[in-house]
Amino acid sequence: MGHLTFLLAAVGSLLPFPSAATPLDKRAAVDTCLSKLKVPVLTAGSADYVQALKPFNNRVTFKPAAYAVPKTVEDVQNAVSCGSQNDVKVTAKSGGHSYGSHGLGGEDGHLIVDMRNFNSVTVDQAAQTAVIGTAGRLGNVATALYNQGKQAISHGTCPGVGVGGLSLHGGYGLISRSKGLTLDNILEAQVVLANSSVVTASPTQNPDLFWALRGAGAAFGIVTNFKFKTFNAPESNLVFQYSLSPSSASQLSTIITALQDFTRNSQPPELNMRLFLSAFTTFSGVYYGTRANFDKVMQPLLTKMGIGSGGFAQITEKNTWLNTLTSFSNGPLEQPAVYDTHETFYAKSLMPEYLSPAAIDALSKYWEKNARNLNRAWYLLIDSHGGANSAVSSVAGDATSYAHRNATFKMQFYDRVYNGNYDPSWQSFLNGWIGNITAASPGVQYGMYINYADTGLSKEEAHKAYWLKNYDRLVQVKNVYDPKKLFTGPQLVGS
Ligand SMILES: Cc1cc2nc3c(=O)[nH]c(=O)nc-3n(C[C@H](O)[C@H](O)[C@H](O)COP(=O)(O)OP(=O)(O)OC[C@H]3O[C@@H](n4cnc5c(N)ncnc54)[C@H](O)[C@@H]3O)c2cc1C
Repeated sequence: MGHLTFLLAAVGSLLPFPSAATPLDKRAAVDTCLSKLKVPVLTAGSADYVQALKPFNNRVTFKPAAYAVPKTVEDVQNAVSCGSQNDVKVTAKSGGHSYGSHGLGGEDGHLIVDMRNFNSVTVDQAAQTAVIGTAGRLGNVATALYNQGKQAISHGTCPGVGVGGLSLHGGYGLISRSKGLTLDNILEAQVVLANSSVVTASPTQNPDLFWALRGAGAAFGIVTNFKFKTFNAPESNLVFQYSLSPSSASQLSTIITALQDFTRNSQPPELNMRLFLSAFTTFSGVYYGTRANFDKVMQPLLTKMGIGSGGFAQITEKNTWLNTLTSFSNGPLEQPAVYDTHETFYAKSLMPEYLSPAAIDALSKYWEKNARNLNRAWYLLIDSHGGANSAVSSVAGDATSYAHRNATFKMQFYDRVYNGNYDPSWQSFLNGWIGNITAASPGVQYGMYINYADTGLSKEEAHKAYWLKNYDRLVQVKNVYDPKKLFTGPQLVGS
């Protein structure tokens, strides 16, 4: 033994405590427990395991302590019990689309409970309700709802996203301004709690849990299925897209100012739309009404935005519901059993109630100076989320734990590469953009959307921005249902 090695060994033996086993060291114990209770697992190193660990966001990967793939609710209960007995954090995974790979724990060492086998859709057409398994992917869910009596729910645009993560934290899409968020349409949920019991959360059963699940669900248990209120799928919809080409910061400011004013004050609930700013810029959406009414509603806005009649427009009328969804899905709605689509990116969000002229000016100037000519596949997506006539804003701020009822816009800042790795230093591009907007808005606490999880936020920043004034009440509910913090992650409630 060399002198240095000997010295280190001697010092090590004098340390007061042996180093604690890390969660990854507990793999064998958790696997033994799962095996004893006959919970199906993916074995580390198998092809299925390697596939399962590929997150939607290639940039953010984690190593679990163990990987369960339950088939029954009892399997889920047993998996939760194995995590609890071995003091290993437990994380549910549905569609695996979290930007921060929160479905893989958001850090190493979790027991992942992959809910892939819970994906059925059963409609009660007379009651206009549907029971939907948590891991159903949106495209498959929309198709199944439609095939069982032409029913629909309000949900996001990407057909690969899982119902679980989307519904437990928000769920904004092409009909949210008239039908609310996905979480606004949950009637009840079946949940496995940290003590392994199964409960129903609804307005009458465990109402505090029901409140917390609708906005911050990942920290409160594992939902196996949801019962949703459905509606008749609208079948004659107008889909539109205008191409824009802002040539200066001041022109972009004019567009955003007009859009903000319209969204806040006069946008009707049957109009859903977004501004997409990137190497090319579009303004697109869906109108649930006639062409004549659409023209009447849109023309004043287009004029104020400077689009006038000169902007290139693509307008299609009489789209069925599934057609409408497909117009925004970047591919077919139906999703394969093994999902294998991935991107490599960093993203941030802002949920502003109001962007002051100075904030809009800062946003536009940053675009002109730093974004417009950047040679990466970045985009800024601005959804017209709230305002006086939006169903999202008509729900009281404390009715669910979703904290952004007053947000006029839902803004997503996204920076990706198509080949190779994302250099960590590139995060300064989006951090700088948000930083300039916030610096121009002294005293404003902007909300952020956990469904666009920003891995650059500390836990304190995340808690404040994701849940705003609902955070303290969430911690109280957490202490009731999961005092030992079995369901946790770097940014979740109580972390
Ligand atoms: C391409 C793309 C497009 C998107 N489009 C939209 C959009 O249009 N509108 C919108 O609102 N959002 C959109 N999102 C964001 C999306 O809503 C979130 O990423 C969402 O959390 C993904 O849910 P998931 O089940 O697929 O992910 P997962 O990674 O499986 O889960 C996300 C989080 O939810 C938790 N969770 C999942 N299932 C359960 C469960 N059963 N019980 C308890 N906790 C659970 C996980 O632990 C994790 O914390 C999009 C995301 C992507 C990648």
